[in-house]
Amino acid sequence: MVNIGVLALQGDFAEHIEMLASLGANAFAIRRDEELANVDGLIIPGGESTTIAKLAIEASIDTIFNTIQKMALSGMPVYGTCMGSIFLAKEIEGSQQGRLALMDIKVRRNAFGPQKFSSEQLVEIPEISNEPFPAVFIRAPIILTCKPNVKVMAKVPQGIVMARQDNLLVTSFHPEVTGNKAVHQYFVKMVQDAKKSSGSKSPIESVTFYPETAIPVTQIS
Ligand code: GLN
Repeated sequence: MVNIGVLALQGDFAEHIEMLASLGANAFAIRRDEELANVDGLIIPGGESTTIAKLAIEASIDTIFNTIQKMALSGMPVYGTCMGSIFLAKEIEGSQQGRLALMDIKVRRNAFGPQKFSSEQLVEIPEISNEPFPAVFIRAPIILTCKPNVKVMAKVPQGIVMARQDNLLVTSFHPEVTGNKAVHQYFVKMVQDAKKSSGSKSPIESVTFYPETAIPVTQIS
């Protein structure tokens, strides 16, 4: 069985925990650095990216983000939904807000407009299923650009809404609020595969932030 943590500092973490548990994963909330110790994979849920950026400067929880960065760079699968995708992005259009800056994507926040334009769209995700996925967009970002090492997994007319770069997975939408488990199933498989192949990688000692002008999460004021 795999242990999958869901970052529970803010946002809709409970729905993710429920869905992961229904898929047979050992799923639990993560609020402190030390709770990451036995985690094989991590979900960063939807919420508000400017809030999590501010949380990153509070000394009491400061190290959790550095630990997540190190674990992700060492190969731990991380899945960011909506706000989570913004927090994982190396670039955020027009913003230097605090973020993990791990994935070679540039995102635009609130790309579908305000809350009243939140909607559900059927999205083709060929890698996951032949059936279209009921994607729920809530003040969602889109991925504007990504580097060639990023695999685009789904698009809508507004832009890219699902992508993967090695052990990092992002969706603009919220699969945890649908009854459809296909995306979570895909992530659980990523975690299982990574757990099987772990041991072959050497741990990463230091973290480089990108772009260089971006403010590391620990230094935001
Ligand atoms: N609009 C939010 C932000 O920019 C994300 C919304 C969500 O996660 N549902 O952080």
